[in-house]
Amino acid sequence: MCSYATPSRSNAAQPPVVLAIGGHDPSGGAGIQADIETIAALGGHAVTVVTALTVQDTQDVRQLRAVDAGFVRAQLEALFDDFPLRTAKLGLAGSVEAVQEVARLLKLHSGVRLVLDPVLAAGGGRELSNAELRDALLDLLLPRTFLATPNSRELQRLSGESDMDAGAARLLRRGCRHLLVSGGHLEGEAVVNRLYSADGGYAEWRWDRLEGEYHGSGCTLAAACAVLLARDLPVKMAVRLAQAYTQDALARAIRPGRGQAIPRRVAPMPS
Ligand code: PLP
Repeated sequence: MCSYATPSRSNAAQPPVVLAIGGHDPSGGAGIQADIETIAALGGHAVTVVTALTVQDTQDVRQLRAVDAGFVRAQLEALFDDFPLRTAKLGLAGSVEAVQEVARLLKLHSGVRLVLDPVLAAGGGRELSNAELRDALLDLLLPRTFLATPNSRELQRLSGESDMDAGAARLLRRGCRHLLVSGGHLEGEAVVNRLYSADGGYAEWRWDRLEGEYHGSGCTLAAACAVLLARDLPVKMAVRLAQAYTQDALARAIRPGRGQAIPRRVAPMPS
């Protein structure tokens, strides 16, 4: 008999399972790979559904091909059936149908908290969404979102507001419980990230602005929030620790290609 087949440890000893749904970035900077590294580094087990394949390097996305929606659905159903999911994280959605499937499954499994990282465009500028996809995120997913993590540009595009507070209020009215707006794309010596909550709560954090451009910082931050929430931390603490982890990964970033630097999400090997 194969002894590997029967897990001997009880569920209490298992790491929290986090479902990461998003695109594959072959450069290893963003997308599902960023999610897996982050979730594992912070003590979770990542299960993943790839919504889109891309051709990209560390400079920009050149092509995007959405995965067949029926195949996305089958993968999601298999994972929702098999695993005691605590949180799910959606990054690049790839298609309206994928958004519909995620929304349908979250309705069936209301205990799973969604972290929504509304990826609309690549750092290099390539558009990764269209108006229908943005509407689907707003109409179908925001009402089921526990924490949304737009950067200031994504907030502006989704809300139609140039003022951050007004934009945040607009998205909260759509039904999401918390909104972490990252200010990395704004000017200033410090990066200011703001947490708005539907109950009126507000917090902000200031981080030293690190030099250079990074590929996958948004994915890292959102995935860190997802795994820390899955570890049952209160939202403010999870968001604070997720930022600290991301800042550290950015400070240790590597530049293996010719373009943007990639956050170093995994711990160095002990020497
Ligand atoms: N997910 C995928 C698959 C991507 O290709 C990208 C950017 O190109 C992103 C997410 C967003 O990356 P970032 O975290 O830099 O916003």
